[in-house]
Amino acid sequence: MNELNTMAYGLKDENVVYIDEVQRGLECEAKCISCGGALIAKKGDVKVHHFAHHNGDGESCNESVLHQLSKQIIEWECLVSTPNLEINVEGYDISDQVHKKSHIEESKVLTVESVSLELASIGFIPDVTCNALGKKLYIEIVVSNDVSEEKLEKVKLDGTPMLVIDMSDYSAMDTLDTLKQGVIYDAPRYWAYHPDHEAMKVHLENDLRFEVSILDEKIISVVSNKLGLVSKSELLKPKTNSELIVLGYNSAYGYSKKNNRDFDFSTLLVAKPIQSTGSSNYTIRSCGGYELTQIAFNEELIPELEKLRFPCLLELDVSGSFLGGRVQSMVTNFKVV
Ligand SMILES: [Zn+2]
Repeated sequence: MNELNTMAYGLKDENVVYIDEVQRGLECEAKCISCGGALIAKKGDVKVHHFAHHNGDGESCNESVLHQLSKQIIEWECLVSTPNLEINVEGYDISDQVHKKSHIEESKVLTVESVSLELASIGFIPDVTCNALGKKLYIEIVVSNDVSEEKLEKVKLDGTPMLVIDMSDYSAMDTLDTLKQGVIYDAPRYWAYHPDHEAMKVHLENDLRFEVSILDEKIISVVSNKLGLVSKSELLKPKTNSELIVLGYNSAYGYSKKNNRDFDFSTLLVAKPIQSTGSSNYTIRSCGGYELTQIAFNEELIPELEKLRFPCLLELDVSGSFLGGRVQSMVTNFKVV
C-alpha cells in the first residue's frame, strides 16, 4: 500500500481518533471520516501504523480526510494566521522610467469566532465561514486543486475576504500536532480576495499617478528648456502662435523592414530665427539670421498645405506632444500671414 493513500485518522462515536488511540484490527470500531466505510487498524511491526478500508475501497479518501481534518482544526482551535502581504503598483513617467509604490502587511494570528463548516452558500459552500476582527471571513483549504476562477468570481461578488490555506505538503498520516501547526501557522497561505486590499491598491495607484504627474511636469520643463523649441508654458498649455518662414514640407509613410513596422512622418521645413542659447558651461550669442529646423505637423493639414506657394510666412499653432518618451513639437494648425 502506498503511504500516500493511507491515513492515521478515523471516526469513532462521532469523534476523530488517531491510530495510536484505537485497538488493532476491526476492533478499532472506526469509520472513514470521508466515506463512512468501516476501517481496520493496521498495527503491525513492519509498516507505519495506519487505517485501511475493510472492504478495500477508499483509494482517494485520504485527501478528503486531510481536507476535513484541516477544517476541523480551525473549528477546534479558533486560530488562523494571515500571510505576509505585499501590494505593489507601478507606473511610468513620460521618459519611460518606472516608479513603484508598495504596502506591506505582516503576518498576524487571528482569533476566529462563530466558526461554521457548512454555513454560507454563495453559489458554493466555502470550507470555513467565520468572523475575525468583527468581520465575516471565508477560509478555503486546498489539498490538490487550487481555488477555481469560478469560485473566485463568486467570492468577489459576495465581497467577503477569502483566505486560502494550501495543505498539499501535508498528509492524513501526519500527527495532529503537525497538522494543527500547519493549518494555523506553517502551511503556505494567501488572500484569494480581500476588499481592503483591492481598495489599498486603488489608493496606491492614485497616489502614484499624482506623484508621476508632478514628475512629468518637471521633466517637461527640463526637456523643453533644453530643446529650446517650445517653452514650458507652451507645453503644459499646448497652444502657441508664432510667425515663421516655412520653406516647404515632407510627408512620407510606408513600411520599415528594418524596424518591422509601419511608419509615417510629416515635417515642415522652417527657417527659424537663430536664438542665443547657453548653459552653465557655455553661451552661444546669436548674430541674427535663420537656421533650418524641422517641425512635425499633423498630416490632416496636407490638403491645406498643398494650396500654398513656398516659401511663405505662416502663423503656426504648435503644441508639445510626447513620442517614445521624448518631447516633440507638433504643428496642429496654421494661418497664412
Ligand atoms: Zn473512505
